[in-house]
Amino acid sequence: MADIFDDRRKGLEEEYFHRQNKEAIEKLRAKMAVSEQAKAAGTSSMKCPRCDGKLEESKFEEVSIDTCDKCGGVWLDSGELEQLTKRESGGWFSRLRHS
Ligand SMILES: [Zn+2]
Repeated sequence: MADIFDDRRKGLEEEYFHRQNKEAIEKLRAKMAVSEQAKAAGTSSMKCPRCDGKLEESKFEEVSIDTCDKCGGVWLDSGELEQLTKRESGGWFSRLRHS
């Protein structure tokens, strides 16, 4: 008679964990998708989003920037722009943004 109750409880637990797992898996999948994108965007043989030229990684003020060898476009990873703008007040970067 305790078996029925245990089974029912087990069933509920399984359902609970199944739901938890599903959420965890979905979160993991979303994370993986993001890291896949980051991986694709973070490689040194990255292509310019504007012209398909090759991006050369270089350092500016200890922040790595990607410069296109074709169109001369400069690309920053997320957070890098912030790092540069934080460092610069009244420098070339703020002048650039105001022009
Ligand atoms: Zn380019």
